Amino acid sequence: MLEQIGEIDPPQRLLMGPGPVNAHPRVLRAMSADLLGQFDPEMTAYMNEVMALYRPIFGTENRWTFLVDGTARAGIEAALVSLVAPGERVLVVNFGRFGLLLTEILERVGAVVETVDAPWGEVVPLEAIAAAVERFGPKVVATVHGDTSTTMAQPLDGLGDLCRRAGALSYVDATATIGGMEIAADRWGVDVVTGGLQKCLGGPSGSAPITVSAAAAERIFSRRHVEHGIRRDDIDDGLGVRIGSNYFDLAMIMDYWSEKRLNHHTEATTMLYGARECARVLLGEGLEACFRRHAAAGRAVAAGIRAMGLTVFGDDRYRMTNVTALYIPDGIDGEAVRRRMREDFEIEIGTAFGPLAGKVWRIGAMGYNARKHKVLITLGALEAVLRAEGFSSIPPGAGVAAALAAWTDSATA
Ligand SMILES: *Cc1c(COP(=O)(O)O)cnc(C)c1O
Repeated sequence: MLEQIGEIDPPQRLLMGPGPVNAHPRVLRAMSADLLGQFDPEMTAYMNEVMALYRPIFGTENRWTFLVDGTARAGIEAALVSLVAPGERVLVVNFGRFGLLLTEILERVGAVVETVDAPWGEVVPLEAIAAAVERFGPKVVATVHGDTSTTMAQPLDGLGDLCRRAGALSYVDATATIGGMEIAADRWGVDVVTGGLQKCLGGPSGSAPITVSAAAAERIFSRRHVEHGIRRDDIDDGLGVRIGSNYFDLAMIMDYWSEKRLNHHTEATTMLYGARECARVLLGEGLEACFRRHAAAGRAVAAGIRAMGLTVFGDDRYRMTNVTALYIPDGIDGEAVRRRMREDFEIEIGTAFGPLAGKVWRIGAMGYNARKHKVLITLGALEAVLRAEGFSSIPPGAGVAAALAAWTDSATA
């Protein structure tokens, strides 16, 4: 059997889609370090370091800044299941596939969900959110920051204020932007923000950084059902009070990350090493420098696409810097292009979902891959593949030249 099932030796693909992307080599090296017991003082010291490292990355001073073990969706689900009780009203700011995911999770929680929507490729104006909050009176407002399905980044300045005035807590899924665009949990005034490693943080998927405000923590702890592994009898046990998940019960996870170190699950040691090194790589470069690098890569991708005579998707004012969608030209088979990109150039670019399926490709330049040479190589390959597929109107070399010029302009801007 071992003749057929060999040692892992994956091809060296360049992952230029909407995520995951290639992990930074330092992160992979950190993840090969030896394991520790979950209550070993060295391990709990690493946990405290992770808390300190992720505060600036989330733009917060929140004490409760830690990791949920699982992919980004684990962070989303832990936040929503811990904040929202069955029957409570939740407003979802919905402008893409991940808004639908929030809605879907909340419906399972038993929340009464209303959405305030924007068409794919646009964002929801703050006034529309304010009006919906006023009309609906939600306990929680949930939104995505950057939705990779549409490449739009929802502006969030002012959201926290308007939620607090209405007595609502707020939740933000920042998986696709954390590390690539500014996350300002405290300035936005939002209560819970979650992320993942596999986009701009340049790690593998499997760990979800999270930050929780004091107000949200208070609400979560008030719903605490189990302490020291023992059921509490002193809380109202009626439906709507208990947190309806054990694994994703943030009260229990926070007890584990607190000085109490109450056992919940076994911390995913190797993922924690990875998340820790992702943060060290980012803070070593500097947050501002890293955001500038992502912005330069995004501008270069868009400039290259346009110079090839292709059309960028979505409202330019709100496009994420780290992933760019472009229309598949008429008469071109989108999947055939992606296959040639993979087979001939070892480059992965992204397909699309829902209303954009078959209409756009998505090119990401995130984390370790938000680099000039990777953008240029991708655009050069795309030109060659498009020509091979019969799209012959591209001025030779135009995409690479425009991307290079755009990158240089951004570097000197
Ligand atoms: C990529 C992405 C996720 C991914 O979640 P996983 O569970 O890590 O696959 C979640 N939210 C947004 C906005 C994303 O872009």
